[in-house]
Amino acid sequence: MAKQPDDKHDDALASLRLGSTIAARQLKYSLLLSVFLGLLIVAFRGYHDYQWLKEIYQQANQRVTTSNVPVAVQVLLRHDRELAEVMVRGMLNQRSIQSVMLTTAEDGIFFEQRRAAGEIPSSRWAETMFGGLQTIVIPVRDPHQKPVTTIGEMVIEFNPQVYVSAFTSRLSWSLLATMVMAVSMAFLFAGMSYYIFSRPLVRLGSYLIKSDPTDESRPLEMPPHHRHDDEIQLLGSVTVGLFGMIRGQLGQLRKARDELMDANVNLEARVAARTDELKEAMQKLEVLASTDPLTGLPNRRSYLARFDEAISVWRRRDTPVSIILLDIDRFKAFNDTYGHQAGDAVLVELGRIMRATLREIDLPARMGGEEFAVLLPGEELAGALKLAERLRVAFERASVSFGGSVLSFTASFGIAGLPSEGQLKTFDKDASAHIEAMKSWETGDISNLMYSMVDSALYQAKEKGRNRCEQCDYTQLPEHSNAFPFDA
Ligand code: GH3
Ligand code: MG
Ligand code: MG
Repeated sequence: MAKQPDDKHDDALASLRLGSTIAARQLKYSLLLSVFLGLLIVAFRGYHDYQWLKEIYQQANQRVTTSNVPVAVQVLLRHDRELAEVMVRGMLNQRSIQSVMLTTAEDGIFFEQRRAAGEIPSSRWAETMFGGLQTIVIPVRDPHQKPVTTIGEMVIEFNPQVYVSAFTSRLSWSLLATMVMAVSMAFLFAGMSYYIFSRPLVRLGSYLIKSDPTDESRPLEMPPHHRHDDEIQLLGSVTVGLFGMIRGQLGQLRKARDELMDANVNLEARVAARTDELKEAMQKLEVLASTDPLTGLPNRRSYLARFDEAISVWRRRDTPVSIILLDIDRFKAFNDTYGHQAGDAVLVELGRIMRATLREIDLPARMGGEEFAVLLPGEELAGALKLAERLRVAFERASVSFGGSVLSFTASFGIAGLPSEGQLKTFDKDASAHIEAMKSWETGDISNLMYSMVDSALYQAKEKGRNRCEQCDYTQLPEHSNAFPFDA
């Protein structure tokens, strides 16, 4: 059995590229998952960073404030501008400080310095995350005076923009690193899944498609080599086992089928032979049933059947039919003189002469004993008379050699017939009417009447001295159509 759907399966295999395998799906889902997890981590870290930076911002502000207040006291006590400048420059090194201003009650602004506009522009994020620009006013007190008196104020303006930058930079790097890791992990997993599942499965699939357990001309191939004793290995082994079972079952099925086919062929041959024998036997039986074994002529049975048919045709189509009944003269004496076998020889010769003299459509028959008949379909009475006369002469002239002697024989003839409409005009009026009326009779009744009439004519021939032909007498037809004049 050749494998048909190879092309189809090859196509299916070709479409099993990485793009449609488990590994691809694995890649897709692990990408989604790792990006999601990465984002979660980044968010978590970002939040922590934010809290941490916020604390640092506050601590730094605190520190710069507390560390510079004693210097501010000195500056304002001494009205030392140089010291103020040194102090403020130092403070402005801290990039979260936008401006520093020293004021006194008497002079108002004693010293002020701010960053160049636009050096560190404040953003909306600075506002949202760290409260934006903040101005702190710290009173500057003289610690030597009792009670302590305020000598001025230090006004510091804070800008948290640097912390925002630090935060975003940290966040970006963290995002980048996490994403790179997530994508790499996803690809790594997908690759692993391809090598662990997809590739061995595709190889196994290709093996399944290519191996055909039904093709007994090829040995069963083993599944592709798989190094690991895992589920895929198990699948391969199970498949080979199944293939083996299929092949075994198939072998048994083929054997059974062959046996069945052989049996069928034998059976068919035997049935055909028996049918032929039966046909032959039936043909033989048919011949036997309708033929006289001595003369080979049709017997009484087949003669009467044909006569019935001819009567039907006469009635329907106005086709005349005539019959001749003949009987060998003084045959008993013949038998007594020459023996039964000589008599048989005469019967055989008589049959031969009848066959030789008659036409193809005429039917000669042996009615029984030494009585014969001829059915003449389509023949009027006159024609039948002529034929009977011809037969009579032929018998008369015939000689049969038997036991060294030459034997001769004669026969007497009775003739009857069912004439056509045309011929009926020449008949006696009553007879004509009777015959016309007979057309409504049953075929069997007509047949019986005709047979009686022809028998009667034969009797007349015997009466009148034998070796002669006598036509039946239509004036003897019965008064009432269903009564037979010759019954008795
Ligand atoms: P008729 O002229 O009046 O017909 O006289 P017949 O002797 O022929 O008439 P009958 O009916 O008295 O005799 C018929 C004889 O035919 C009797 C029988 O011996 C003979 N016969 C009948 N069948 C056979 C047959 O098959 N073979 C032989 N050899 N003789 C037969
Ligand atoms: Mg007889
Ligand atoms: Mg006789």
